[in-house]
Amino acid sequence: MTPGAGDALIVIDMQRDFLPGGSLAVPAGDRILAAVNRCLDLFSWAHLPVYASRDWHPPGHCSFQPQGGPWPPHCVAGSPGAAFAEGLHLPPGVTVVSKATQDTVDAYSAFGGTDLASRLAAATVKRLFVVGLATDYCVLHTVLDALEGGFEVVVLGDAIAAVDVAPGDGERAIARMRQAGASVADSAALWPGARSGPQPAGPV
Ligand code: ZN
Repeated sequence: MTPGAGDALIVIDMQRDFLPGGSLAVPAGDRILAAVNRCLDLFSWAHLPVYASRDWHPPGHCSFQPQGGPWPPHCVAGSPGAAFAEGLHLPPGVTVVSKATQDTVDAYSAFGGTDLASRLAAATVKRLFVVGLATDYCVLHTVLDALEGGFEVVVLGDAIAAVDVAPGDGERAIARMRQAGASVADSAALWPGARSGPQPAGPV
């Protein structure tokens, strides 16, 4: 499970508005920060590519309740709430992917209306490790699009958190991602020498 050539990490929407205190806070959003940072540190240390998506909405975005959308206004481009989480260990070479930047289009997936797919292809990425927010929206749809795009996908289960508008949404999203072909692992399994399952580590 240790990341190597052809692997990349994508951090989904670790923005202040999605963390406790923000306008669209994911209840346990701050509890995953340490695990997300562990993943970031590992990919930085291994000199592997890191991508960070962000909601980057205009002030009158269609997903906002005043415009008839489902969500309170959040992640308005350039606002403090749209900034990445304080203490997030993004490496200097991170590729930032801004999504849903137009009034009339929303995008849960980091592939939606962005150049992420071509950037990953240019970097010859084959396997994507996915962390961030929220399990039942942007993580889910990014993972489904990545699988459809032919990537191998590993979701780090301790480094994602759900909105859970309906109880169980997060669990159902994880089941959907598994069914679609993603594997789910613990971030601790990524470190060299870590055992990735219950079976003893075999010869490599
Ligand atoms: Zn949004």
